[in-house]
Amino acid sequence: MPRILSDDLPFDLTVPVAIVGGGAAGLCAALAAREAGIDPVVFERDALPQGSTALSAGLIPAAGTAAQRAAGIADSAASFAHDIQAKAHGAADPAVLEVVTAGAGPAIDWLTERHGLAFTVIADFSYPGHSARRMHGLASRAGSELIDRLRAAVESAGIDIVTGARVEALVATPEGRVRGLVATRPDGSRERIGCAALVLACNGYGGNKDLVAEHIPALKDALYFGHPGNQGDAVLWGEALGAGLRHMSGHQGHGSVAHPHGILVSWAVIMEGGCQVNTAGERFWNEASGYSEAALAVLGQPGGIAWDLFDARIAGIARQFEDFRRAEAAGAVLQAESMDELAARLSIPPQVIRATLESVADLKRRRGTDGFGRDWSGLPDLVPPYCAVKVTGALFHTQGGLAVDGTARVLRTGGAPLPNLFAAGGAAVGVSGPDASGYLSGNGLLTAVVLGRIAGREAALLVSAEP
Ligand SMILES: Cc1cc2nc3c(=O)[nH]c(=O)nc-3n(C[C@H](O)[C@H](O)[C@H](O)COP(=O)(O)OP(=O)(O)OC[C@H]3O[C@@H](n4cnc5c(N)ncnc54)[C@H](O)[C@@H]3O)c2cc1C
Repeated sequence: MPRILSDDLPFDLTVPVAIVGGGAAGLCAALAAREAGIDPVVFERDALPQGSTALSAGLIPAAGTAAQRAAGIADSAASFAHDIQAKAHGAADPAVLEVVTAGAGPAIDWLTERHGLAFTVIADFSYPGHSARRMHGLASRAGSELIDRLRAAVESAGIDIVTGARVEALVATPEGRVRGLVATRPDGSRERIGCAALVLACNGYGGNKDLVAEHIPALKDALYFGHPGNQGDAVLWGEALGAGLRHMSGHQGHGSVAHPHGILVSWAVIMEGGCQVNTAGERFWNEASGYSEAALAVLGQPGGIAWDLFDARIAGIARQFEDFRRAEAAGAVLQAESMDELAARLSIPPQVIRATLESVADLKRRRGTDGFGRDWSGLPDLVPPYCAVKVTGALFHTQGGLAVDGTARVLRTGGAPLPNLFAAGGAAVGVSGPDASGYLSGNGLLTAVVLGRIAGREAALLVSAEP
């Protein structure tokens, strides 16, 4: 079936606002549309909405929240925006950046106060590039809790989520006005749904090998750690409607996935004073630059493998993450009482491990910066028992996508908005620019939650304003 149909066959049902995708972006859009007085319907291909949101750590950066104030953290949307733009090397679109950074604090407070999602701030370590502690998570620090709580909020607002509905094509006029969609059901039957406005919240193209090979060739053979159902439908539909695509090579990688267990090991193990060594026992980069660019750094080492080295104190901090507890339960986290025992467990010559760890200890004592540019000041010494996890690099999600304005309206290649099409989350271009190194922690859920909320509200306002 073509991606875009221009027929005028009847629809089985017509809804005011249709939302494709039931991840964080789609569910936040649904809540916002409902609050703006419109009954949206979410179409989700899976039997249960999960998406990459469920696989994530569920951490959302936001400035000026009630949770930050309760933890005594001073922060502002302006410094948040500055941090994002510094990491993105100035490539984030200023209009989108402004609305998502200004809207993040209110969005977290909205989810907490109105929908009962009790966010707290991660206050015991800093994420690379954030000038304030502003990562907000639910109790388990797991995305599965986030998606379950969002789904519960949507259900209790009386919003319909049609599951097992894979949207296969859009129906649009030759001028690019979306009239509806065609969804395929698990039994192979098709339903035609009309809509007055459409929100694309079906994430990016991480699950589509061909698109990854085209736009991110360096990761074409890497493990994809996101949701396999994210096949790039939003960008393919948008492109066919004449929408602009931006920063298609942008993505979030991660260089700390326990191997072969396939479990995310929090970057807290690095930021609190740990380091990465290759299988020869040598450090190979500035780990504090960020976990996104770590994917390529680790995959560039022999065998595409590295060891995260840290200690029991740091493991105690990382244990707040459900994923880290799972990694421990799976036997991915090794412990050793001495450097020599650590070397033996890692099959690395003891003199090499000792030289690496002693040089790190020396840098910490001198509050020095190493040859890779990592500043070690203020980080405590690693002390026995030592911990180690064998890790590899992976593609987590794509950050390139449909060009949008500050109201989440999808823009044509020439910059004018399409009449009634909105995009949020991984479907829209993010605020990370065209490289993995432009990704600041939390940029993924930031545009899912905040732009999702904006897209839902704006789609509802558009529909309400129509005669
Ligand atoms: C392991 C991991 C950890 C991460 N941790 C974090 C973190 O802590 N903080 C952060 O900010 N970001 C994190 N991310 C990134 C984050 O998960 C994503 O940026 C975010 O979940 C995107 O939300 P979304 O709603 O756009 O997409 P998703 O949550 O992926 O939802 C998209 C939905 O659309 C559905 N869909 C797709 N195509 C169709 C179709 N044709 N028809 C119907 N339905 C369709 C999918 O089934 C899916 O349910 C992480 C990612 C991974 C993989």
